Amino acid sequence: MRSFAAPSRLNLYLSAVGALGVAGIVFALVSTSWSSLIHEVVFWPTIFLAVGAIAGELKPIALVRGGAEPRTLSTSTPFILALIAVAGVGVAVLVQAIASIADDVIRRREFKKSLFNTAQYGLSVVCASAVYSWMSGNPFLAVPSGVEPKDIIALLVAGVVMVSVNWLLVTTVVSIAAELPFWSVLRDDAQSSIVTHIVLLSVGGIAALVAADGLVALMLLAAPVVAAHLFAASAARHAHDATHDALTGLGNRGQANYELRGALREARQSDDDGPGFVFLDLDHFKDFNDALGHPVGDKILCEVAERLKAATPEHSSVHRLGGDEFAVVVRGGVGESTQVAHDLVASLDAPIKVDDLELLVRVSAGVAVAPMHGTDVETLMKNSDIALYRAKVERDQVSMYSHEFDVNSAERLQLLVDLRAALDSRQLEVVYQPQFNLADRRMVGVEALVRWNHPTRGTVYPDEFIPLAESSGLIFPLTAFVLDEALSQLARWRASGYFMRMAVNLSARHLSDLALPERVAEVADRHGVSLGSLVLEVTETGIMSDPVRADLVIRALRERGVAIAIDDYGTGNASLSYLKRLEIDELKVDRSFVSNIGADHQDLVIVRSTIALALALGLRVVAEGIEDESTAVSLQELGRVVGQGYHLGRPASPDVIEAMLDTERQTLGTHKNAES
Ligand code: C2E
Ligand code: MG
Ligand code: MG
Repeated sequence: MRSFAAPSRLNLYLSAVGALGVAGIVFALVSTSWSSLIHEVVFWPTIFLAVGAIAGELKPIALVRGGAEPRTLSTSTPFILALIAVAGVGVAVLVQAIASIADDVIRRREFKKSLFNTAQYGLSVVCASAVYSWMSGNPFLAVPSGVEPKDIIALLVAGVVMVSVNWLLVTTVVSIAAELPFWSVLRDDAQSSIVTHIVLLSVGGIAALVAADGLVALMLLAAPVVAAHLFAASAARHAHDATHDALTGLGNRGQANYELRGALREARQSDDDGPGFVFLDLDHFKDFNDALGHPVGDKILCEVAERLKAATPEHSSVHRLGGDEFAVVVRGGVGESTQVAHDLVASLDAPIKVDDLELLVRVSAGVAVAPMHGTDVETLMKNSDIALYRAKVERDQVSMYSHEFDVNSAERLQLLVDLRAALDSRQLEVVYQPQFNLADRRMVGVEALVRWNHPTRGTVYPDEFIPLAESSGLIFPLTAFVLDEALSQLARWRASGYFMRMAVNLSARHLSDLALPERVAEVADRHGVSLGSLVLEVTETGIMSDPVRADLVIRALRERGVAIAIDDYGTGNASLSYLKRLEIDELKVDRSFVSNIGADHQDLVIVRSTIALALALGLRVVAEGIEDESTAVSLQELGRVVGQGYHLGRPASPDVIEAMLDTERQTLGTHKNAES
């Protein structure tokens, strides 16, 4: 957050203006001859102008300022200006003070601010009166003799002086308090209000001229002031609509641009680091929309907007860039921006309640901070996008941009583009890794593993492209392809008289897809295989990322006869009893424990107790990563365990698997239905 100047400088300034202003007001009030005034002044027009001034102060008009929030402008100026000419400086000062104090009381401003407001208005009016009397020849303190057309120039110059003094005093206090250069504050404010001021001052001039003609003439003048209010309000409403998102009410992309540009300018002027741009994107929001419908999607977006707004510090602004993308402009450097990004991500930790559902909506954030990650709006936005992409792929929730990403992410983006093409041009292939009953070494199943035969890179392994597919949504067509291949292969093996299980890997994202069970059943139907021979492998993290829907999907799959295996068991942090409650069928102990049990006693203990517990719970156990015979033997001694690993068989083409099955049939006799 921006640090504020030492209070002494600000206080000194406030006190000086306060003292001067109060002195000016007191002087004007005391020196005015009120008794002669009552008789000489045009009474009703003066009352009318006074009421107009107070009403104008209490109900200011909204000014549109580029993409920023509207600023307000009081319309008391023309009435006060007319009062100077019609009723003299004493009345003008008195009415202005009443209007200003009334406004401060209604808006509950602190005393210090209220005193400053009243004082600076008082000074503006006294200066304007002095200029008017000097130019028009009217005595400064006496009751004016009436306004003539020749006085109009003097009155308009006085009006300009009034507005200018007021501007200078206010701009100075803002520039001291916010530590911004005087000229930048002045410019920011001036652009929007000059035209409005010209209109208002002209109205003031006319009002002074017609005041002598009576109340009716004056009242006609109320029309342009009311019109200014209405036009300004409608312009402000249009500007708001054009710069804000209709669904969430947050600023839109244009507004984010505007804020970032302004923040960059401020930081440059005050030599501070920053601003930071935090780019947020909801994880798998499309799934929510698809599964639950757009009205629910909209409710989620609104709640997300509320949470983000609450987590955004003062002086920073939240925007919805479109779809499920949000952004926050942070007025601060790397430290503040990182902190804000983490706070924003954490604000979605608690599930979102929509109707009867509790939904876990997660978000990823990419951060870029000026000046090191870019010094203009476009570069900062682009680099925060790269950082976001990185956060998604690496599954870190928050990622700060680094120049290394640029090269790296370009490479990954290329791979992603290639993967899309690969899906269409059949560069993907499925290989099968056999699984054996360790007791009799019969092949009881295979695991389908995808390979990518890239035209220039050669074989690309799934660890490299599955995360990309997951982050981009390509995982859906990819899994559909693997499932289709695997089940058609299973049907062919069946036809040759080989019966065994087929395991297929699922990604976390499939566990939120309520339509998955239906689609799996269709594929099995098409190939004429029973779902009883299909095993779908999911990970602990996959289940934990959206437990409510994972539970629904898993149940529906099991009802159709599909077996569910927990892959890489031991690498996540789900407890066995939790997994059992989910009603799974198989546990695949991760190879990081299995491959070491010969050498590491600790690993042996972990594997032994896991297997004992899983068997006691009635689960099938598969030990992954068996790389030598001694490991196979040790595992075999632990109970009815299925083994998988390079020592027993590497992932291979269907032909190689079929050759293994043929050999097995010859040496071990007829292959039976896989039951273990
Ligand atoms: P996974 O499901 O745990 O698959 C086992 C991985 O371990 C395979 O790597 C396999 O080649 C390797 N492996 C098998 N035995 C041994 C061994 O004795 N020693 C060692 N060091 N490794 C062994 P692969 O094929 O590279 O697959 C890696 C991961 O990619 C898989 O882990 C799985 O999570 C994912 N994956 C593979 N195919 C698919 C797919 O079609 N869809 C999805 N969603 N994920 C897939
Ligand atoms: Mg697997
Ligand atoms: Mg595994």
